[in-house]
Amino acid sequence: SVALYIVPTPIGNLGDISTRAIEVLNQVSLIACEDTRHSGKLLSHFGIETRKTALHDHNERDRAQWIIQKLSNGEAVALISDAGTPLISDPGYHLVSQVREAGYNVIPLPGPCAAITALSASGLPSDRFSFEGFLPAKEKGRLDKLTELAEDPRTLIFYESPHRIVHSLESIVAALGEDRHVVMAREVTKTFETFLSGPAAEILQTVKQDPNQQKGEIVLMCHGHRINDDEGIPTVAINTLKLLSEELP
Ligand code: SAM
Repeated sequence: SVALYIVPTPIGNLGDISTRAIEVLNQVSLIACEDTRHSGKLLSHFGIETRKTALHDHNERDRAQWIIQKLSNGEAVALISDAGTPLISDPGYHLVSQVREAGYNVIPLPGPCAAITALSASGLPSDRFSFEGFLPAKEKGRLDKLTELAEDPRTLIFYESPHRIVHSLESIVAALGEDRHVVMAREVTKTFETFLSGPAAEILQTVKQDPNQQKGEIVLMCHGHRINDDEGIPTVAINTLKLLSEELP
């Protein structure tokens, strides 16, 4: 039926595409791709010959109106990104909100997402988590962001580029402490899939010493802030105590 379909694609292992994803990509009139050349390889691998159009951060708002035109002509459209779930640190937000505003259906398909896949095998608490996307590229911005998150009790999930992994781990040690439990998931679903798990300072050392750990695609996860594990005294109580003691002679 006439709708915008949000279709996740594999994050490495081509076997992770779903039967329904292939069906939808074959049936729609148009596939909006982040990069038509990149997705062209994936689509031809599955024998999908549907017409493609580019939708990236720079043309998304204009392209959205054009896609709404297609929907109004009765043509179904699919959105894919280079890898994983569209809109998750990828383009699509403006398109989806504009298509909904224009009154058309948006139909999501479930599928690969690096953050959720990495979290599921990390061993970190998964009952509550905060997906934070990419950390800022500049040190000041990165430290500010991490300081803001330092007392968040939820598991923190970051996307990371191999060029910045050492800098990001250094900032994590500085802002969250060298003992903060970190899990680094690299090349998930691919040949060199690796999970490193341990205190932040230890992971930093391992990654610094081994250039192989600075390659490929990375999800970085941090255990949430633990409220005075050792003493069982809530932070609020400690702060009140500090305030009171300042008033004492
Ligand atoms: N939309 C994608 C998703 O659903 O996961 C994420 C796109 S974002 C531009 C790319 C980032 O996702 C990479 O820099 C990396 O942090 C993470 N990523 C993608 N594939 C991965 C993989 N196979 N293993 C680990 N991290 C991956």
